[in-house]
Amino acid sequence: TKHNGRNGYHFFQPSMNALAQTQLQLMNDLWLAESRHELRLLYQPKFQAPAGPAIGFEALLRWEHPQRGLLAPDAFLPLAEKTGVIISIGLWVLNEACRQLSEWRAAGYTNWTMAVNLSAMQFEQPSLIDDVMSCLTRHNIPPEMLILEVTETTAMSDPDESVRLLTELTRLGVKASIDDFGTGYSSLLYLKRLPASELKIDRAFVNELRAEGEDATIVSAIIALAKTLNLRVVAEGVETVEQQAFLTELGCNTLQGYLLGKPLDPQSITHMVKHTPEH
Ligand code: C2E
Ligand code: CA
Ligand code: CA
Ligand code: CA
Repeated sequence: TKHNGRNGYHFFQPSMNALAQTQLQLMNDLWLAESRHELRLLYQPKFQAPAGPAIGFEALLRWEHPQRGLLAPDAFLPLAEKTGVIISIGLWVLNEACRQLSEWRAAGYTNWTMAVNLSAMQFEQPSLIDDVMSCLTRHNIPPEMLILEVTETTAMSDPDESVRLLTELTRLGVKASIDDFGTGYSSLLYLKRLPASELKIDRAFVNELRAEGEDATIVSAIIALAKTLNLRVVAEGVETVEQQAFLTELGCNTLQGYLLGKPLDPQSITHMVKHTPEH
C-alpha cells in the first residue's frame, strides 16, 4: 500500500480492473466518512392516516462524498455491510438521530417519535442493547419515543434470537418495527411471538396499489394480519391520493411517502412545522 497525503491510503495495483479500483477507493473513503463529517441524516415524516399531523420521523442516511456528491444508502450500504464499517456508522446514526430528537424536544415537539433503521449486522452485535440504552441516557430520551426498524428478512434470519433481542428492547421501553414487510418469508408462528409494535408494508405493494389490482388483496391481507397480531400498520411509499384513500379505508394507521412528505434536512422540518396550522 502506498500512502497518499491528501486522499488517504491507496491500494491500487496496475493489474486491477477499473471497477475493483473504484470499489476499493469507495471503501477507503467510507472508513473515513464519519471522521470527515461527510455523513448526514434526512428525516422523513410519518403521518396519522389519512392526513393528520406528523407523529414522528424516520432517519435516513446520506453520504456527502467529496467527489461524487450526495449518495443514497443503496450506493454504499452494501459495501458498508460487507466491510463491517456499518457498525460504527450505525452507532453514529443512532446517536445523531437521538441528538436531533432531543433538540426538537427541547424546542417543544415532545410528541414526535424517531425511527432508526438497523442493519442485519448491527442487529447481531452483542452490544446493541447497551448501545441503545446509553444513547437514550446521553440524550435524555424517553425510550418509547425511539423506534428501531428491522427488516422482516433480518428479523427472520434467526427468529429465536430476534425474539430474545426484541424482548429485551421492549423491556427497555423501546419500540420495534418490522420493516419491508411482505418481501421476506415470515413464519406466522414467530411473527406472533415477536414483540414488535408495528409492521411497515413494503413500498413495492403500495406502489402497485389499485382498487382492483392483485396487490390490493395482498395489502388487505397484511393489514388484517397485523390487526390480528395487535400491530400498528405503516404504509411506506405513498405517492398518490388514491393510495392514501385506499390505505386509510383498509385501516392503515400511519402513512409515509412523497405525497405527504419527502425526507428533509432538520432545518426544513422546523420551518415546515412553524408554517403548518396544526402546530
Ligand atoms: P427503507 O427503510 O425502506 O426506507 C424507505 C426508502 O424509501 C427511503 O430511501 C426513502 O427515501 C424512500 N421513500 C420514501 N417515500 C417514498 C415514496 O413515496 N416513493 C419512493 N419511490 N421512495 C420513497 P433511502 O433513503 O434511499 O433509503 C433506502 C434504504 O436504505 C432504506 O429503506 C433502508 O433500508 C436503508 N437505510 C437508510 N438509512 C439507513 C441507516 O441509517 N441505517 C441502515 N442500516 N439502513 C439505512
Ligand atoms: Ca425503514
Ligand atoms: Ca421499508
Ligand atoms: Ca426498503
